[in-house]
Amino acid sequence: MGELVSSNPVNGEEVGRVVVTDPADIPGLVQRARVAQRAWRALPIEERAAMVAAAGPSIVERSRELGELLTREMGKPIQAAVGEVLSCGRGLKEEVDEIANALRPEVLDDGRTQTTLFHDPYGVCAAITPWNFPISMPHWLVVPALVAGNAVVLKPSEETPLIADAWARILQEHLPADVLQIVHGDEQQGKALVAADVDLVAFTGSRNAGAHILSAAGGELKRVLLELGGKDPLIVLEDADVDAAARFAARNSFRNTGQVCVSTERIYVHESVLPEFTEKLVDEARAMVVGDGLDAATDLGPMINARQKQHVVAQVRDAAQSGAHVVFGDTEAEGNFLGPIVLADVDHTMDIMREETFGPVACVQGFSRVEQAVELANDTPYGLGAVVYGGDSAEAVARELDAGMIGINRSCGGASGSPWVGAKQSGYGFHSGPHGHRQFTQVRIVSRPK
Ligand code: NAD
Repeated sequence: MGELVSSNPVNGEEVGRVVVTDPADIPGLVQRARVAQRAWRALPIEERAAMVAAAGPSIVERSRELGELLTREMGKPIQAAVGEVLSCGRGLKEEVDEIANALRPEVLDDGRTQTTLFHDPYGVCAAITPWNFPISMPHWLVVPALVAGNAVVLKPSEETPLIADAWARILQEHLPADVLQIVHGDEQQGKALVAADVDLVAFTGSRNAGAHILSAAGGELKRVLLELGGKDPLIVLEDADVDAAARFAARNSFRNTGQVCVSTERIYVHESVLPEFTEKLVDEARAMVVGDGLDAATDLGPMINARQKQHVVAQVRDAAQSGAHVVFGDTEAEGNFLGPIVLADVDHTMDIMREETFGPVACVQGFSRVEQAVELANDTPYGLGAVVYGGDSAEAVARELDAGMIGINRSCGGASGSPWVGAKQSGYGFHSGPHGHRQFTQVRIVSRPK
């Protein structure tokens, strides 16, 4: 099948290459996973958890080297890259303990019948992941699937095969053969994996690919877990701390060059604080440094590739032609680079307020009534995250938002133990936290008379 060349988005230079998996080999690979899974699931969950956790120290030890590879392969600033690696290594022991606890059998007893409720593995799990957090995304799906007793076949993004491969190899050193295997390639290999004899497809990626997977898996009613794109709103109320809201907006619109599923993509600001908010947001944007992620001063690395940059540029230009005002930034940067852009006077007739951007663009629209802000925020098929900045009334506004994760005066992610969950077309099933870990299992009950 040849090789997949992974190149640095800064300059197009080759970072490395992997052998592409022949789709015709995928059914055999899944079959090997099925055989390996029998012995894997027979181990006590604590043993499986300990084997997975044993990878933690190596991941931490190699965080600098892996972080540099991550930056060279997808462009994010080195501190963020090393942080991503560390986040997958440092807490691994606590994480696998949380998974093992969540999956303990439960006993139900009504005086006449005693029932034990088990969380059993499904069997073979296909994990298909994107490039924007190329270690965390595989980690979030593969770790709970494995600890639950599934064998996993991972297909990482074709944009970031090297870093995913390096991470998977560390895990493989601590696991029995074939319990975790890796398939390289693009959507062709992804489709072949979904079509193979897998029991669960756990996917993180775009809404379109997710919809395709759902229908491809539907014929045989395979279990499917989808974490998809977003179009997250931020509502800034009249009584918000405007400094804090603008700082949050800048960070959450521009971090990872806007290539984050829970990026702030739409900002609705009460008109009484709109000029002040916009000015502060522009100040924040102006202070951001664009460059090679390996340079410690860089805030925004390059976009992943020319296609993604072109998509963002086209949305910005289309919005500007339809009446949006570019109050900061431009689309003129060289190569895959794109600096922070602030757009004002946007509205929902524009593609940039409806379709996922996945780029460093903050779009600001004013509102006069809170009901109007809520209506605009919910006017989307997406429903991943949402954030409200404001005083006491922010709580009530948050409860009106049709998203899976809502933050008040902070980002949308929850306390430790929370699920990562999308509403509407941003998700189908969810992962993380005790509730999420159980999604990698078949619930089964065994009952007997008392
Ligand atoms: P993508 O959907 O293009 O690709 C994701 C993965 O799916 C890749 O490995 C790709 O090769 C594979 N793939 C593509 N089409 C497929 C198909 N029909 N069948 C099987 N596999 C297929 O997404 P991307 O560009 O890699 O990532 C960006 C998207 O991911 C954005 O929409 C972003 O919001 C989303 N995302 C969501 C979350 C979340 O937690 N909800 C997290 C990160 C990224």
